[in-house]
Amino acid sequence: MMSKNKQFVEKITAMEDDFAQWYTDVVKQAELVDYGLVRGTMIMKPYGFAIWENVRDALDRKIKETGHSNVAFPLFIPESLLEKEKDHVEGFAPEVAWVTHGGDEELAERLAIRPTSEVLFCDYYSKNIHSYRDLPKLYNQWANVVRWEKTTRPFLRSSEFHWQEGHTAHATDEEAAKETDQMLNVYADLAENYLAIPVIKGRKTEMEKFAGAKYTITIECMMHDGKALQAGTSHHFGSGFAEAFDITYLDKDGKSQFVHQTSWGLSTRIMGALIMVHGDNRGLVVPPRIAPTQAMIVPIAQHKEGVLDKAYDLRDKLADIVRIDIDASDKMPGWKFNECEMKGYPVRIEIGPKDIEKNQVVLVRRDTNEKEFVSIDELEVRLPALLEEIQQNLFDKALAHRNEKTTVVKSMDELEKALKENPGFLKAMWCGDEACEEKIKEETQVTSRCIPFEQEKLADTCFCCGKKAKEMVYWARAY
Ligand SMILES: [Zn+2]
Repeated sequence: MMSKNKQFVEKITAMEDDFAQWYTDVVKQAELVDYGLVRGTMIMKPYGFAIWENVRDALDRKIKETGHSNVAFPLFIPESLLEKEKDHVEGFAPEVAWVTHGGDEELAERLAIRPTSEVLFCDYYSKNIHSYRDLPKLYNQWANVVRWEKTTRPFLRSSEFHWQEGHTAHATDEEAAKETDQMLNVYADLAENYLAIPVIKGRKTEMEKFAGAKYTITIECMMHDGKALQAGTSHHFGSGFAEAFDITYLDKDGKSQFVHQTSWGLSTRIMGALIMVHGDNRGLVVPPRIAPTQAMIVPIAQHKEGVLDKAYDLRDKLADIVRIDIDASDKMPGWKFNECEMKGYPVRIEIGPKDIEKNQVVLVRRDTNEKEFVSIDELEVRLPALLEEIQQNLFDKALAHRNEKTTVVKSMDELEKALKENPGFLKAMWCGDEACEEKIKEETQVTSRCIPFEQEKLADTCFCCGKKAKEMVYWARAY
């Protein structure tokens, strides 16, 4: 059995040796994705898509609970429409894929394959909002978008990816600000309470904000290798897009006013975060609340009489309580154990002839590898409780890791030292000057992640230039 186990595990590189290769190995071996034919595209396989579906469904519920309706807008954007908001088109132009022909015929106007759909919603709103009675408009769509990326990695940066994009229009700036906050909180709740990923909420600097936005707020999280990942963003547009697209309404006094807009998005990128926050050298670890399979039954000595029957009974008994499956294939148990670990099922349930005699099973936690003998009669209570413990433990572990990987720095020397010794989040005071931000980025590839809502005063002066500090900023190298 040992040699078979080894064979399986050897398929993934240890994360300490080569984190990037570890990531690629896990993505492949856990059967999440395969590479598409066009560079930078990916095929989401059944298991990868099942995890994404659970993330998507949880988020979709929250989007609807907060009063939004789902819609489906077209894939194509006429070039002239994309060019209407100047900052926006400049931000996206380098990544746009264009359709130039329909059959053999050259099109009179090029069509962009949506990199994001702000302009389509703006055009629609300009035609469909007339009065204050038409507001607010609270739309969301689940869609795939295309961005022609130069370097790509599954989930993290792909030329085509899946996401949701919310687009809303409001009567006032304050209402739009409230919406922007609300949706960031929805993302934070999803990340922390479903994906067990602790996040830092804050505002992006001017340099890092969305092209065309008044401001952008973000949730940022820390990966196992000390790199940060932006997991979801929410943008307040003010009336910038409304002015470019002439989206006006008549207020209660009959005066024409511009609407105030927001947009917010969360993509399959969060799957990358899930892998890199919780995964280990045995493979993927999926938090129970979004795991397609929360418990996998592995029968031991299944050829012996009664074992499979009992295992199937167990599955049927628990199927209403947890998402449970059974591996009754003819592979060796050791192989099945490894597969359970690679796929990151939160709990493995072992049941063999001796267990049946004692009316018990063995529960093995994926997160800690701990074993526990539980009476079959107690399983309906114990198993859901164990899943909750695992969910909490994953969050606690990720938070402890983030704290370990967070360093306060007060000078560029301290920043460079931290990058060498303990790369992660660098908390530092900043003067607010883009020149410092540029310099830091150029010299160290570190970018500002966010100006956290929870501010601390760590020093009086900017860690880069020594001038008077304005705000505390989280900095990091990022995906
Ligand atoms: Zn400075």
